[in-house]
Amino acid sequence: MVLKIECAESQETRVLPFLTPRTRAKHDLSKRVDVIPTFYAEMDGEELDRRISAARATLAERLVILGHHYQRDEIIKYADYRGDSFKLAQLAAGRKEADYILFCGVHFMAESADILSAAHQKVILPNPAAGCSMADMANIAEVEECWQILTDLLGEDAGIIPVTYMNSAANLKAFCGHNGGVVCTSSNAPKVIDWAFKQGKRVLFFPDEHLGRNTGLKYGIREDQMTVWNPKDPMSSEDAEEEIERARIILWKGYCTTHMRFNVQQIQKARAEYPGIKILVHPECRREVVEAADLYGSTEYIIQQIERAPAGSKWGVATEINLVHRLAQEHPDQFIFCLDPIVCPCSTMYRIHPAYLAWVLEALVNGEVINQVSVDEETAHWARVALERMLSLAA
Ligand code: SF4
Repeated sequence: MVLKIECAESQETRVLPFLTPRTRAKHDLSKRVDVIPTFYAEMDGEELDRRISAARATLAERLVILGHHYQRDEIIKYADYRGDSFKLAQLAAGRKEADYILFCGVHFMAESADILSAAHQKVILPNPAAGCSMADMANIAEVEECWQILTDLLGEDAGIIPVTYMNSAANLKAFCGHNGGVVCTSSNAPKVIDWAFKQGKRVLFFPDEHLGRNTGLKYGIREDQMTVWNPKDPMSSEDAEEEIERARIILWKGYCTTHMRFNVQQIQKARAEYPGIKILVHPECRREVVEAADLYGSTEYIIQQIERAPAGSKWGVATEINLVHRLAQEHPDQFIFCLDPIVCPCSTMYRIHPAYLAWVLEALVNGEVINQVSVDEETAHWARVALERMLSLAA
């Protein structure tokens, strides 16, 4: 029961749902790999459904299941709430009666839910191997090294404000909290950049180069006032020092494998084939894709645009395929399709499979908590500082 998808562009083989002891050695692609008992791995869909439903009924109010928009339909059908990562973390924090928060998403989201939830609440990520390839492109050792080099180069009054995207590990959020920085989401990134430039002279933006660049351009910063920091090979270019001294935004070289699949040719083709179509893209896409689109914005923004559109609207959408398919199903009076012709979902999100739900839920019924995600108190404190700075901007 292992699904494999080959990405035509990246040639990457993506192993999707879950790893049995038998298949694990062959597909050991993640640092956070776990092994699901064969008993669950070999169960059919009906049996899994029966067990998940029974466990939910037993746990009742003590359990809340959160489903990120990019989860497949077989998971979303069990979610008490759907949303993007930040909305889900806030919803979890608001359900204090729930002892267990089952987060159907990826690792950094479960960490954020743990940071924002009450001490008695336990956050569970059904499959610990569900990470985020973008979040993994920045780690604390690399960010601290970057910070040291920038500070040495630019001096103590360099005025660098670190800004991390929500899609980052808890210790990077904590780094921002500790160093006068902040967290942003794809919805509030322009407001956060505005705040950052009121606090200092430069922004170090990680881990997504493209969200950083698109936001900087929207804010009025020119491309030549931004530079890219490659953590694997920093300061390699001859002009690196000069570029950093000139830069107002230093962009971490990270990207989302899902949103990097979209290109301008797909947009041109869609416009040629479907006159009147509107192109709606996510800001994790490259600059040229965002500029060629009619509209761009966060996952929630994309959903709102389609919900508010009249019947007969036509949309070419550049975001994760599970969400686009669901939008198409929920709005049959509109024509909605994903601009990427090859079905290539977020492979890390796809690692949540009903077998994992059945496994962790039945364990909870038996009083055992497995696959809990827990952030240590010091990290959680400083991460909360950075998150609260972001929240105060909305007030
Ligand atoms: S869609 Fe991209 S940013 Fe979102 S979880 Fe998947 S890899 Fe990470």
